[in-house]
Amino acid sequence: MMQNLNTGHGHVFPRPDGMKARCGGPAICRECAIDAARHALAPEESDDFKLQLMGTDGTRWAAEFNRVAVRLGYSKMDEDWLIGWFSNAIEAGRNAPESRDE
Ligand SMILES: [Zn+2]
Repeated sequence: MMQNLNTGHGHVFPRPDGMKARCGGPAICRECAIDAARHALAPEESDDFKLQLMGTDGTRWAAEFNRVAVRLGYSKMDEDWLIGWFSNAIEAGRNAPESRDE
């Protein structure tokens, strides 16, 4: 599922294009305040936000993976080991051809 991430005012949920509305942010803007409440209540549900935040940084993926795993009841894993796996996976994805069918 691919969504257009360049939506919203950009104060609470950063946009890929870096745009921020001149609305004054959550303190005075109603739309931004709603974003802030949504983010505070359910940060886990904002997958697009998470993907943007972590991007292609294996260390962030490893840290987040560990955090979620522990929250779900799994044991905390060695983060350096996870970083190795995530970094290699990201690198493999980067070097993959656009389509393998051609
Ligand atoms: Zn706003």
